[in-house]
Amino acid sequence: MILTGPTEATMGASDSYASLRVLVVDDDELLHAVVQQILNGLGVVHVGIALSGAEALLAVDRAEWDLILCDLWMPGMDGIQFARHLGVRGFAGGVALTSAADGRLLATVGHLIEAHGLRFLGACEKPYGWRGVREILGAVNGQRARASSSVVPELLPVDVVREGLCLGGRLQVWMQPTLDARSGKALGAECLVRWQDPGGALHPPNSFIPVAEQHGLIDQLTDQMFVQAVAHIARWRDEGLRVKVSVNLSMENLADIGLTDRLLDVVSAARLSPSMFTLELTETSLLERLQSSLEVLTRMRLHGFGLSIDDFGTGHSSLGRLKLLPFTELKVDRAFVSGAARDRSARVILASSVQIAHSLGMTVVAEGVETTDDAAIATDLGCDALQGYGIARPMPAVEFEGWFRRHAGAGPVLTR
Ligand code: C2E
Ligand code: CA
Ligand code: CA
Repeated sequence: MILTGPTEATMGASDSYASLRVLVVDDDELLHAVVQQILNGLGVVHVGIALSGAEALLAVDRAEWDLILCDLWMPGMDGIQFARHLGVRGFAGGVALTSAADGRLLATVGHLIEAHGLRFLGACEKPYGWRGVREILGAVNGQRARASSSVVPELLPVDVVREGLCLGGRLQVWMQPTLDARSGKALGAECLVRWQDPGGALHPPNSFIPVAEQHGLIDQLTDQMFVQAVAHIARWRDEGLRVKVSVNLSMENLADIGLTDRLLDVVSAARLSPSMFTLELTETSLLERLQSSLEVLTRMRLHGFGLSIDDFGTGHSSLGRLKLLPFTELKVDRAFVSGAARDRSARVILASSVQIAHSLGMTVVAEGVETTDDAAIATDLGCDALQGYGIARPMPAVEFEGWFRRHAGAGPVLTR
């Protein structure tokens, strides 16, 4: 195995790839220099080369790798057998394929790789080219960013959550804008809760929502969020702005059959229409407890609230079950939107979700729009609204007002 040290960085090098450790597995020695040059040129400093699956497994046992770029056809051990061995070893980095095989076969092998518990990052065609390799490196960094952001934060102690909810003033509404896909006009926002402790530090939802859910405090939390959301919308209405918002519900909220009437009271006290509000429930939670929640959901719809299936695509809903639900909106999970340009299966799922939703009379929101390509694909495939970091990150409600005013007219969907 050959390990290259730092080399002279050439055109197109990127600091963001400098820390990546990449192992190339390919029996074609003539291509080694090519792929190494491309990787070094893109800024990768640590490149390992293995001539066979067996040699690569030795390298995996001896060192850590962020990415294995593996040829599918190799004498001795092919890429599929190699993946099984990697799975047994619990390899934690990303795996990408290089091959002259057709795209469908590569996609199937990709599924096999995932079935071994590995992270499949895509395939690039042979002979190695700059573009394909750069896309794979981008996917590695994307995975790393996701992994670090999905680290579960420390949970707030239940006493802190209970006392904070009793005294009030701890919850802040942050808003993440949504845009109309066709016109590029601002539609409104999703309300996302933040916990502010007395020192001013902000905590993300997954550090206290599970605590509230487990200790019977989620109704208080949802009520406080909803009251704040309604107050913002009413104030903006008084200033001539028509902002539609979504509020997240927990499945635990639906156990309380008084919820619909409480929400209606808050809305009518502010002289607003329930149609300005959409209530989001995740697809997985809905599947778990569909029957018991149907009454509350149906009453919410009857009174005019919008209802949204959140994180769609993660829970394997069948068309038959979807038809039963009185939902008005489908939010396709960001797993099928971010990076859809280079992931054919994500595009297929996105397209069929749009078709199903439209045939049931629902609108479709694409979540996780991070790039211009994501926005273009989601729009081309028929999504009605877009949401994601590429449009705007969640922001405090006061900042959102300015954002909304700036985007109230038609314009390009992404400014960057
Ligand atoms: P969610 O409803 O799926 O909300 C979207 C989450 O994805 C937000 O994280 C948002 O910041 C993030 N996000 C948005 N666009 C992008 C993007 O382009 N790329 C990436 N990588 N991420 C993006 P946040 O604010 O941390 O919220 C996490 C979850 O907490 C929410 O997921 C929702 O399930 C829950 N949550 C938030 N607020 C509430 C609430 O008031 N009540 C309840 N029950 N749950 C809430
Ligand atoms: Ca949501
Ligand atoms: Ca979501």
